Amino acid sequence: MKSFHPPVRTLMGPGPSDVNPRILEALSRPTIGHLDPAFIQMMDETKLLLQQAFKTDNELTMPVSAPGSAGMETVFTNLLERGDKVIICQNGVFGGRMKENVERCGAEAIMVEDAWGSTIDIDKAEQALTDTPDAKAIAFVHAETSTGVRSDVQALCGLAAKYDCLSIVDAVTSLGGIELEVDEWGIDAIYSGTQKCLSCVPGLSPVSFSERAARVIRERKSKVQSWFLDLNLVMGYWGSDAKRSYHHTAPVNSLYALHESLLILQEEGLQNAWNRHALNHEALLAGLETLGLKFIVDKEFRLPQLNAVSFPDSIDDATVRSALLNDYNLEIGAGLGALAGSVWRIGLMGFASNKSNVLLCVSVLGNVLAAQGMPVDVSKAVAAVGAVYAA
Ligand SMILES: *Cc1c(COP(=O)(O)O)cnc(C)c1O
Repeated sequence: MKSFHPPVRTLMGPGPSDVNPRILEALSRPTIGHLDPAFIQMMDETKLLLQQAFKTDNELTMPVSAPGSAGMETVFTNLLERGDKVIICQNGVFGGRMKENVERCGAEAIMVEDAWGSTIDIDKAEQALTDTPDAKAIAFVHAETSTGVRSDVQALCGLAAKYDCLSIVDAVTSLGGIELEVDEWGIDAIYSGTQKCLSCVPGLSPVSFSERAARVIRERKSKVQSWFLDLNLVMGYWGSDAKRSYHHTAPVNSLYALHESLLILQEEGLQNAWNRHALNHEALLAGLETLGLKFIVDKEFRLPQLNAVSFPDSIDDATVRSALLNDYNLEIGAGLGALAGSVWRIGLMGFASNKSNVLLCVSVLGNVLAAQGMPVDVSKAVAAVGAVYAA
């Protein structure tokens, strides 16, 4: 065996996205102790940078030492106790995982389902809240990575406030890519991931809890069933008034990487980052539509960072994706669940949301589709991309 050297790829799938070289460099800095005063100072800065990225003053804001799925589990295991009821609005894969989490907490999941590719129906959500006056929380995904759909978090949180229950938001793919206002929208509990629009390495999950949610956690009657994810214990390490005692060994170098990625986001500015994602999406859209591919999500609810497109029946999904990967080192995502085999999910996330990647994807995908016998005009598609940037 030899050292592992990964092939050089361009990552335009549903995550991980291309990591900014500045972040990879940060990752390779010397490991120090996780209770070293220098490290603790960096942790404090990381909390502050996370609060800025989430647009919140929530004191209980920190990265969980595990991927986005662990952030999801942290939220549900800490907020729920046996017998609680949670309304889950599902319109893709990740709402289904929320259900799994709720049920494993011994709580009841009340499902409100919308078609995959559609946004969450606010009226149906309100009906569920009316029908379940004792619901403890309503949970939903902001950016459904399985379908490329954005949900109206502001409206859904407004309902949560009206019916006096907690709002729980999955922002794994939205943070850094589209507008997200934790305090202004009244989000009570939110979790994200590092490997999507933050373009950091996978393996951390930023979370944030409102004071109301933090109180629910402090006043639990039963212990959180997960020792590792119990925030009452984790805050002994991450809490600002804590003595910073040992809970688990923090992933020191990954946290350097997160600090760097949040710094990059702060330097660019949140609004500028959202605008960049929107512009590159417009350019990709122009190119892919000129190639004859169809976006499956209505314009109003499309995610700029995750573009779900359908292709003609004559095209073989796996052949195209492996040609992209093997011949051009370009990774795009396959369809998931109900959409497997019929759509591609093209990510433009974080550092990977740039003009070169848009042009690469449109031209290379055009070539591969032409080789499959689809009548495409690649140069016209490339010109359509250029026209968006020139406008
Ligand atoms: C990727 C993703 C997750 C899971 O994150 P992991 O880091 O893979 O555990 C959860 N929710 C959504 C919407 C995602 O896109």
